[in-house]
This record gives sequence, C-alpha cells and structure tokens, in this order.
Amino acid sequence: MLAADDVCPFCAATERVLLTLLQRKPDVALVHCRRCHASSASRMPTSEALEKYYANYYGGKDEKITVDAPARIALHIYKHAKFAATRPEISILDYGGGDGSISVELAKFFVNQGIKKVSIALIDYDQSTPKSAGENIHVRRFSDLSEIEDQSMDIVIASAVIEHVPNPRPVIDKLFGVLKVGGGFYARTPHVFPLMKLASIVNAKFDFTYPAHVHDLGAKFWNNISDCLTGGGKYQIIRSTPSLVETSFQEHFLRTLAAYVLKIPGYVFKEQYALVGGWEVFIRRRS
Ligand SMILES: [Zn+2]
Repeated sequence: MLAADDVCPFCAATERVLLTLLQRKPDVALVHCRRCHASSASRMPTSEALEKYYANYYGGKDEKITVDAPARIALHIYKHAKFAATRPEISILDYGGGDGSISVELAKFFVNQGIKKVSIALIDYDQSTPKSAGENIHVRRFSDLSEIEDQSMDIVIASAVIEHVPNPRPVIDKLFGVLKVGGGFYARTPHVFPLMKLASIVNAKFDFTYPAHVHDLGAKFWNNISDCLTGGGKYQIIRSTPSLVETSFQEHFLRTLAAYVLKIPGYVFKEQYALVGGWEVFIRRRS
C-alpha cells in the first residue's frame, strides 16, 4: 500500500473531509474532496498489489462480474452515440473493457447501420482473447493508454473502470484527449457512500470492495468534471443520470428490483438524491 496522500487524486485540492473508514490495520479512510466532489481512498494499493489482485480476479470463476447482458449496455450507449453512424469508419476505445463484450456489441449496432469498419482499441488487465467479432469489426489490444493517439477516437467507453484507478488524473485527461472533435465519451462509476451510510444506520454490512474500488463518484463529481479536466471547456455533458441497472430481472430478480426502486428518484432529484448506487454520463467534445 502506498503512503497516504494529502491531495485529491483528481483535482489536487487539499480541502478534503473524512467520510468513513474503509478498513483497519492499516487504516484506510474514504475522503471527500470539497472542490471536485470525488471521494477517494486515503491510501492507494501499489501497482504490484493490483496486478496480483486482478490476476486472481480474472482467474477465478466466482460471481464478480455483475453485468448480465453486455448487449443491453451496448444498446444503451448506442442510443447516445448514434451521431457516429454518419461516419464511414468508427474507432472505439474500450478502456477497462475486459474481453470487449460491450464494445463489440456496440460495434455490431453500427455495422447493422451500414458502417463498413469499426476499430476497437481494448485496454485491460484482462488479457483473454477478445470477443469474436464480424469481419467489419477489428479488435486490437493495447497495453497502455499512452499508445493511443490524441484525437483518434469517435467513442470512448470507460464503463465501471475509473473507480479502480489509483492515479486517475492522467487517465481521465488522456481518455478525453483521445476523443476526436465531435466524439462521445461514456463513463459509469459506482456511487455507494450514501448507501453505506444507510446500511450502517441499520447495522448492515456494506462492502466498498477496497482495494478494487478506490473512488466513489456521483452526480456532483460528473456534473463538474469539466472544471477538473485540462481544457475542460471543450466538453459538454449530454446526459447525466443514475447508471443503468446492471443486472436483469431474469437472472437476479430481487437485486434488479431493488436497484430500480433505489435509482428512480435519482432521475428526478439528481444531485439531491444520492441512493443511486452508481452514476453515468455521456459527454461530447465540442472543439
Ligand atoms: Zn478533487
């Protein structure tokens, strides 16, 4: 584990307040930044520790991946990324996209619309063989974001990944930097601290899943993301809502029902209501 940092890993502000302890011995707290509204762990795991963790994560077959239907998330992204369908070719960066399930399904929607070529750049600890794709869909793994050229992507997907990144600032800057003008960015992150607080009131256990998750990012963080980014004025939030329910009624009935019930007020009350479990944004690059 790295030593505790005094500044916010997103915006480098020092105005931070302690929310709760995530673990004891050694103590790790969840700390909230008053400037950018990110909540982050006070101490970050080392990259060696994370590599070990994820090697086990992808090796084990237990139920850690909670997305029942990648196609459903892909359709959801497609609805807000249709602008790209006017282009002859589309490039997608799928950051933390595992085997590419979501981006390949997204690419299929574009191919069905007559797009001749969709190139997917995949970056993940997971090095399994990417999802098989049709002949119009080309998937290539990259080992690091630095290999992706600036302004080269029509669509950037960061679905349930930023919460895992110990040093997120350069990653976020790069994810936006690789967007072409007019390109679209989709991110989805957990926002569970309010649920943790509620759970503690009724003495229920709520696992933040540290050190897998090291950040908690809700509506306030995402709605102010342009203040946090280098050249933030170039980006426009198209949609900012509670995140899509990840599970389906067919496979996880009660969990899915609970998720819908908790998230619905979030669509109406937005930042005022926090029991959403997760938040998502669609952002376009304007210039
Ligand atoms: Zn901050």
